[in-house]
Amino acid sequence: MDFRLTPEQEARKKEFYQVCGDLNKKKPPQYIGIESKNDNDECWEFHRHCAREFGKRGWLSLGWPAEHGGSGDMMDKVLFSEAVGYYGVPGVDEFGVAMLAPTLLAAGSEEIKKEFLPGIAKGETMWCELWSEPNAGSDLAALTTTAIRKGDEFILNGQKTWNTGAHRADWAFGVYKSDPQAKKHQNLTFLLCDMKSPGVTVKGIPYIDGAHIYNEVYLDDVKVPAKYIVGKEGGGWAVVNVLAGFERSNIGLVYLLLRGMEQLVEYCNNTKRNGVLLSQDPIIRNRIAEMACGLEAVRTLAYRIADQQNRQEMGLMDAASVKIFASELMEKMSHVATDILGPYGQAAHSKYAKMGGVWESIYQACFVPIVSMGTNEIQRNIIAWYGLGLPRMK
Ligand SMILES: Cc1cc2nc3c(=O)[nH]c(=O)nc-3n(C[C@H](O)[C@H](O)[C@H](O)COP(=O)(O)OP(=O)(O)OC[C@H]3O[C@@H](n4cnc5c(N)ncnc54)[C@H](O)[C@@H]3O)c2cc1C
Repeated sequence: MDFRLTPEQEARKKEFYQVCGDLNKKKPPQYIGIESKNDNDECWEFHRHCAREFGKRGWLSLGWPAEHGGSGDMMDKVLFSEAVGYYGVPGVDEFGVAMLAPTLLAAGSEEIKKEFLPGIAKGETMWCELWSEPNAGSDLAALTTTAIRKGDEFILNGQKTWNTGAHRADWAFGVYKSDPQAKKHQNLTFLLCDMKSPGVTVKGIPYIDGAHIYNEVYLDDVKVPAKYIVGKEGGGWAVVNVLAGFERSNIGLVYLLLRGMEQLVEYCNNTKRNGVLLSQDPIIRNRIAEMACGLEAVRTLAYRIADQQNRQEMGLMDAASVKIFASELMEKMSHVATDILGPYGQAAHSKYAKMGGVWESIYQACFVPIVSMGTNEIQRNIIAWYGLGLPRMK
């Protein structure tokens, strides 16, 4: 692919950075990382405000086909995600905008697209993902929560877990066992569910830093109209695979790290330890240079994915590669950065926090993308099977 931007793309990029930079100045003081929105009411309101700002500019539907209000160019979406990631502003619902919308465009009925895409595009409807269960994570198809059809409705029963932002979300997309007699992978149905439906109970799972981000969701005789099916009844596994590709190919993380690195460089250029600037320390220089190389590599992988998406050629292996690379880079970078900051690296909500506590927050969160969206071991399996043609282990 050609990595140069056209003059029109350069102009749009400038506008994305301008608006995100302005929103960045309005962040509430409690807002440290992207997950602050789920933990704190003020941060959530700020998330909604940013979403509306983006929505009214049509930026939440970039990359969508023109008939649904998009530009049709995935590169626009990438450039916008870069600006959002760079300033670490919220406003892009990772579940609705980044995952469900492209899935509905690929696999949803016209009726469902008409009902749900406008709310996502305007930044009004927020979503969560109800996939994992206490005994079904990597082996998602082993899930046991049921969706049994009765006339024009499905009745949901069971428990989901680790559901990010489920306590804030308006709607959930989920996958359920709809035919207990059918073979594994052929018995699943993908459904959209109103989180205000009677029978939905959400309980928080406190994160290691005490924040309320993740949840367990209990479903007791929850009624979902059959029109809210995505794909075919019993064909949910195919929809899961479509969505998983979008879930794993997000570039915002790369730019969050890029900005973190720039701030770290500035810190090292202005901070002395034992009378010597940190930026004069050969070990520190070396480790930051390694960060920069990693970021450049993952940025290139993410651009490649956008190019493939434009041509409808994105493979599971490509999405898996960028997911592994970006998440493991985040982990390495958070360790290096907090090492460089020394004891200050442990301060977040404190007057001693450096760079607004962003590296402490990234450190606390760095294992999340490694485990969620399918663990990196599973991604490596995907690369082995679908990318390299290696056999499955017996
Ligand atoms: C912070 C966080 C947020 C999350 N958010 C959501 C969400 O919003 N919605 C949602 O539905 N889920 C969410 N999840 C769940 C996530 O998708 C699962 O945790 C993940 O798929 C792993 O499943 P598990 O936790 O059951 O681990 P397990 O599947 O039990 O795996 C345990 C370990 O065994 C390894 N392993 C398992 N099978 C294999 C294999 N075949 N080959 C090699 N290694 C293997 C795994 O890599 C892992 O290291 C989230 C998880 C976390 C931690």
